[in-house]
Amino acid sequence: MKIVVLKFGGTSVGTIDRIKKIADLITNYRKKYKVIVVSSAMSGATNDLVKKSKNISNNFSNVEYDALVSSGEQVACALIAGRLIHKGYKSRSWMGWQIPIITDNNHKYSKINQIYKRNIIKYLKSGGIPIVTGFQGVSGEGRITTIGRGGSDASAIMLAKFFKAERCIIYTDVEGVYTTDPKKLDKAKKIKVISYEEMLEMASLGAKVMQPVSIQDARLSRIDIEVMSSFKNKSGTLITKRKNIINRNIITGISSTQNDAKVTLVGVKDKPGIAASIFKPLSESSINVDMVVQNISADGKETDLTFTIKNDDLTKTRKITNSNKKINFKKLLFDRNVSKVSIIGVGMITTPGVTYRMFQALAKHKINIQVISTSEIKISVLIDKKNIKKAISALHKEFKLEA
Ligand code: ADP
Ligand code: ASP
Ligand code: MG
Repeated sequence: MKIVVLKFGGTSVGTIDRIKKIADLITNYRKKYKVIVVSSAMSGATNDLVKKSKNISNNFSNVEYDALVSSGEQVACALIAGRLIHKGYKSRSWMGWQIPIITDNNHKYSKINQIYKRNIIKYLKSGGIPIVTGFQGVSGEGRITTIGRGGSDASAIMLAKFFKAERCIIYTDVEGVYTTDPKKLDKAKKIKVISYEEMLEMASLGAKVMQPVSIQDARLSRIDIEVMSSFKNKSGTLITKRKNIINRNIITGISSTQNDAKVTLVGVKDKPGIAASIFKPLSESSINVDMVVQNISADGKETDLTFTIKNDDLTKTRKITNSNKKINFKKLLFDRNVSKVSIIGVGMITTPGVTYRMFQALAKHKINIQVISTSEIKISVLIDKKNIKKAISALHKEFKLEA
């Protein structure tokens, strides 16, 4: 049985008209494949539900959060199935728990462990088109779970894995993965092929087009992903293993984040174990610390320590740090108006001078770098939020990514 998994994101099912269009697209695949459809909620639906939960309580139960925010997918799937039935096809919606898609109990951020195939295989064999809810599953305790925002991408990859699909296609509102967000830079260029590693970095560093967890899953299971537009019939981007890629630039793409915050502790006592004492209570509260810099103190007594976190975690971080009895510092400064801009590319492993070129390009545009962090295939800098556009444009030009 040749299976294709087709995933539709929020904007692809955002209106009744769009749902009618994608129903036509789905039926086109029927000539060659058995089709499994995965859908996200209609655009904006999940955000509305999240907002409602926050208005009910600022400490809304994670279990009920999952029952609530997973409901948008049920609506979209029923509408798609309804349209296919209207067109004369056999189709039905499947909630995660009906298949079932089994996850762990870590509500809000669950992980898919197992997908039972029997029901769906039987249905495919009978000529049906199953429309599966993305983003949700069911825990061992029988409660509905969700797998993190943007999680329908990961649902699609896991279905492709368990059903050994020949193809896994992610339909979205842009034509594929671009050198940088095409909605932020007109000159962004569509990338034909990209490696899992680069896509994972781009996604983790802010490229919303694919959810990072889904790329990690695809990489581990060696599943090729095709990203394309559900609006235009054009070739998209293939996400695959590095070995399949011949032509490459030094830099493949540029990502940026929207919601970082920077915290600086001024006049911290410089002694062994101090950084651990600062970060331990943060990690215990599930606050993810991203970039860190510590100045070397001239007198060996006091130093300044700067780190970044998600904006949402700032209030909690300030509270925890200010009441931390294990550390001494003079002042806690914070800044919400920062953004992390990153260049990503496996080409930088073998090319010297990339860091210099990045810093030089930013300096030419008088963009001040506040914090730097690097890995084998990426360089990130923290800058003032107001300079994001300028920075992306300058780096895009410097590394010759222009369309
Ligand atoms: P979906 O609802 O289909 O899952 P998303 O909104 O999650 O779609 O992701 C698609 C969006 O990702 C695009 O509209 C685009 O603005 C954004 N995006 C950010 N970086 C990139 C990039 N490098 N390439 C393509 N799109 C990107
Ligand atoms: N509807 C969910 C969200 O908005 C899942 C997804 O879009 O992939 O996060
Ligand atoms: Mg998405």
